[in-house]
Amino acid sequence: MVDHRVQTVDVLVVGGGTAGFGAAIAAARQGLRVSLIEATSKVGGVMAFCPGMPWGGGYPVGRSIGGIFAELTETLMGMTPPAATVRPSTLENFGAEVIYDHESATYVMFEMLESARVDVHLNTLIGEPEMEGRRIRSVRAYDRRGPLTFQVGMVIDCSGDGNLSAQAGVPYTVGNGSGDMMGVTLSFMMVGADWTRVFADDDPYFERYAAVGVSNGQLHPDLAKLYLMRGFHDGNVFCNTVHIRGIDGTDPDAVSRATQEGRRRCRQVARFLIDNVPGFENARMIDLGPTVGVRETRRLEAMFRITGDAIARATQFDDGIVACDNPIDDVMRGDGAMTHDAAVDKGSYYTIPLRTLIPKTVENLLFAGRLICADSIAFASVRGMPQCMAMGQAAGTAAALALKNQRPIQQVDANQVIATLVANGLNRIGPSPRP
Ligand SMILES: Cc1cc2nc3c(=O)[nH]c(=O)nc-3n(C[C@H](O)[C@H](O)[C@H](O)COP(=O)(O)OP(=O)(O)OC[C@H]3O[C@@H](n4cnc5c(N)ncnc54)[C@H](O)[C@@H]3O)c2cc1C
Repeated sequence: MVDHRVQTVDVLVVGGGTAGFGAAIAAARQGLRVSLIEATSKVGGVMAFCPGMPWGGGYPVGRSIGGIFAELTETLMGMTPPAATVRPSTLENFGAEVIYDHESATYVMFEMLESARVDVHLNTLIGEPEMEGRRIRSVRAYDRRGPLTFQVGMVIDCSGDGNLSAQAGVPYTVGNGSGDMMGVTLSFMMVGADWTRVFADDDPYFERYAAVGVSNGQLHPDLAKLYLMRGFHDGNVFCNTVHIRGIDGTDPDAVSRATQEGRRRCRQVARFLIDNVPGFENARMIDLGPTVGVRETRRLEAMFRITGDAIARATQFDDGIVACDNPIDDVMRGDGAMTHDAAVDKGSYYTIPLRTLIPKTVENLLFAGRLICADSIAFASVRGMPQCMAMGQAAGTAAALALKNQRPIQQVDANQVIATLVANGLNRIGPSPRP
């Protein structure tokens, strides 16, 4: 018979993606006992499922958002040899991005979690919460030894899908509200390419070549734009291009089927590049993602919902916890296309309010990352990995302050959260953000 294990923690972080990474470190650095639960064998979430994907949106109007994102980037850039660099994005309306060596980044992320004394549980699946009135008393988890119960002070849901929050009674919408979610993507890397020839044309989507491939049946019709970019290492080309529509990312069977279909299309693209695009003749495929990256599933209802209108006005909220000028990066919702229209006028930015991460009623729950309370337009802009890390950092900090002050999370002092985040390096946040 399996022992029934029970652990008591101050903060339980569900999901070790970029949001969970930020949340766990921030809460642990406030001196709390923090456990981070991740269903897979790696931290990173989408970052780990699409190895080599650049961190976009970390430099709104040319200045780093700061905080844990900046710390991670600077650590990687300071390694010998450097394991990251900042460069302009090749796409319109995106600012600078960080491109990095994926293995080094994962290693440094684990080290940062370790030195903050976060208790990391990999290969562990969070199950259902046990409620006591408006509070979560405990959360059930499962690992290869069997069930495990966490008695919790606060829970931060960074799972992307929000099962636990939904079970705790937090209302949610799925995708654009009618159930249409953005396309999922299986990525891969081509190594051994000749960058000079591959990127000789000013055509970020390789549309000239793709049109031929689609018309003669070598490529799936959804591959009319090939999104290929330089990787971190010379001769590597990151291929973030095989999108599959109409997949419900909360349905594990649909995700498995999409991953298998994605593998077929990725192999098709690799063959096409080698045979048709100059510079790929001697290249080969590596790092095919272990599963599709899911952009959008549930978005939870919070004390405040950020909207496309608010971001278009470059609203800087009093409780703004991270700056952002990312475009509306929409990818094949329903029968839509892939677009990245500007979200704000050039030279301006908006901030994401803390209240978008706090549910209305559950007193010891927050969420961060792609679970944020946002309409579908705002969501398409806020979802970059640097913003997810910063949302996590804000949620971890708020959770710690609410626990210390013995307050429900709805009554956390936003000014105190902002002051702590500023002291910990986040830029351009709070009531009077600097230009
Ligand atoms: C294909 C694709 C391309 C993108 N391109 C870019 C880009 O170029 N630049 C950029 O900055 N952003 C990009 N984004 C957006 C960005 O990657 C995501 O919005 C961001 O990574 C979301 O982070 P998250 O931590 O909120 O969620 P996720 O990364 O989804 O992490 C959630 C984690 O929770 C875990 N989890 C879920 N349920 C459970 C459970 N029950 N128990 C335990 N663990 C659980 C999952 O395993 C996962 O690790 C892209 C997204 C996708 C999908």
